Amino acid sequence: MENRLKPMDAEQLREYGHKMVDFIADYYKTIENFPVLSQVEPGYLRNLLPDSAPNQPDSFQHVLDDIQTKILPGVTHWQSPNYFAYYPSNSSVAGFLGEMLSAGLNIVGFSWMSSPAATELEMIVLDWLGKMLKLPEDFLSAGQGGGVIQGTASEAVLVVLLAARDKVLKAVGKGALGKLVVYASDQTHAALQKACQIGGIHPENCRLLKANSSTNYALSPELLSETISQDLAHGLIPFFLCATVGTTSSTAVDSLLALGKIAKSNGMWFHVDAAYAGSACVCPEFRHYIDGVEEADSFNMNAHKWFLTNFDCSALWVKDRRALVQALSTNPEYLKNKASQANMVVDYKDWQIPLGRRFRSLKLWMVLRLYGLENLQCYIRNHIKLAKHFEDLITQDSRFQVVTPRIFSLVCFRLLPSDDEHHGNKLNHELLDAVNSTGKVFISHTVLSGKYILRFAVGAPLTEEKHVNAAWKILQDKATALLGECLG
Ligand code: PLP
Repeated sequence: MENRLKPMDAEQLREYGHKMVDFIADYYKTIENFPVLSQVEPGYLRNLLPDSAPNQPDSFQHVLDDIQTKILPGVTHWQSPNYFAYYPSNSSVAGFLGEMLSAGLNIVGFSWMSSPAATELEMIVLDWLGKMLKLPEDFLSAGQGGGVIQGTASEAVLVVLLAARDKVLKAVGKGALGKLVVYASDQTHAALQKACQIGGIHPENCRLLKANSSTNYALSPELLSETISQDLAHGLIPFFLCATVGTTSSTAVDSLLALGKIAKSNGMWFHVDAAYAGSACVCPEFRHYIDGVEEADSFNMNAHKWFLTNFDCSALWVKDRRALVQALSTNPEYLKNKASQANMVVDYKDWQIPLGRRFRSLKLWMVLRLYGLENLQCYIRNHIKLAKHFEDLITQDSRFQVVTPRIFSLVCFRLLPSDDEHHGNKLNHELLDAVNSTGKVFISHTVLSGKYILRFAVGAPLTEEKHVNAAWKILQDKATALLGECLG
């Protein structure tokens, strides 16, 4: 059969591309009409789509119609102004345009040579962002360090854990793998546990130290010191400490200065996970939350969370890029080239797990250029102001309680039970389900010290005060209904 397919026809791209942009722009205009949390049942899509792919081409319009009628009902609308769950995952016009350009060029920038601009722009943009965060010079690319864009914070902690592991094993011998110990609080994201699993760290050597309300769920330096001493006494080798600035459950902030000193005095790698809260640290008034970052070996923040850069874009800085490269580099014949062999360039394939990599720096560059630092600071401040407003609303209603002090744009709260604790957990679980099943708002939960807590995270780009007020009204109404039922 004659090949009539023209998969990359510029005029077709123009025509369909315009239609797709219109479709997406209309989506954003009408986003509030959709239930924020998708209300479909598991398996819903199987019944709506054919069993096999078409033999003959379908029309673009037909596909768009299917997106509208079959796909969108199964979408949870993270960009809705009424989205307050987990942490945000921002999109923006600048981020979207950068993503579009990246898809358009579709290069695979594993080495400098495979697309020099991709590597060089990434180094420059991460230096820019590093300076905005006032990271120590050691993290910038002029010295031994530098930044790299990973897909996620999970990949970031994995690659630095592997770098740290190989560095220590080089010193103590490969046979000591079973003695290596990792430290963090039990509030640390599960990504660390996964990194340990992949990195061959024995599960019993992964110390997730209890954090409680006495430290606002931050890791206690004293507890860390004691645990390290006990491990040393047992002949174990402490090698990796992960601190978090803005934990996933409640935005707890570990004290980088105190923890970093302990890590340093024990010769450990010190990683800082600021996946969510790192964005806030571009504002001078919040920068102090990462004071002590100078003690760290690596620092990570997700520009795709709260920094207007479309998913995925996780910025990781290291002080010593050689440690990463030593753990992760390979040098097969088919990738050899003059610039790499002469050590004149950075080859980002050696800073990450996969070989292939997208041109992700474009979208971060677009965000920084099209918005500028001052607008980005205002953006963050506005969300924090809205979160404070929500917190004030809660404190005015004696049926509710703010559970942990609000630091950034997350409020942890609960409806107070009238009787025992079990009832309190059930009550708040029911409140969450009742609120989310309205489709008008989406919030999520966590458990702190055995208590079921509701999380209200402000951070979607379209959220305004009226959305926060509307969400609060729904919470109050559902609480009234639930408490009424309890009484009845
Ligand atoms: N670390 C923290 C503090 C987080 O809050 C999250 C996700 O919310 C992660 C890590 C994991 O992020 P990612 O999905 O980028 O791996």
